[in-house]
Amino acid sequence: MTLRLRQLGDPILTQVAEPVTEFGTPALQNLIEEMLATLKEAQGVGLAAPQVGSPLQVIIVASRPNPRYPDAPQMEPLVMLNPRPLALSDEQVLGWEGCLSVPNCRGLVARAREVEVEYYTPEGVRQRVTWQDFPARVFQHEYDHLLGRLFLDRQPQQLLTEAEYQAQIHSLAGGTEEQQLPP
Ligand code: ZN
Repeated sequence: MTLRLRQLGDPILTQVAEPVTEFGTPALQNLIEEMLATLKEAQGVGLAAPQVGSPLQVIIVASRPNPRYPDAPQMEPLVMLNPRPLALSDEQVLGWEGCLSVPNCRGLVARAREVEVEYYTPEGVRQRVTWQDFPARVFQHEYDHLLGRLFLDRQPQQLLTEAEYQAQIHSLAGGTEEQQLPP
């Protein structure tokens, strides 16, 4: 079953999400399964629980290689509970982002090039991961959702409609042949 995607203007998108305190429960497993199905149907590369109406600190990062980031890991969707960045690189990079909660809009956003993250698995096991470039961008975008922030709050250097983005894709600064952008 897929869930309804909340869009810009829904109050839940501006709220700070709550930590998961009980791991491995049927309700949590159900939420994760529905988030995975929703992400797959939307053909996204990431999703945060508030985007489907849950106040919990749950995100999915599902990076895959694309022409601009050929070294991006081909990864199974990674479910991250209570994630927090341990370190963000001083080096920042610009990239185009979209968001399933902000349809028909693309923005050029600066993000740290590298992140080190601590998180918990659905079973409550603490893990760490370090990412560069595309998956690092996806993580920062999804983590922002848990803080009640959208990429629009990150002062995009440029904003385009989806149609203009597609029309200008080959001549845009910072990009890009990306077809997969962080939702
Ligand atoms: Zn988003």
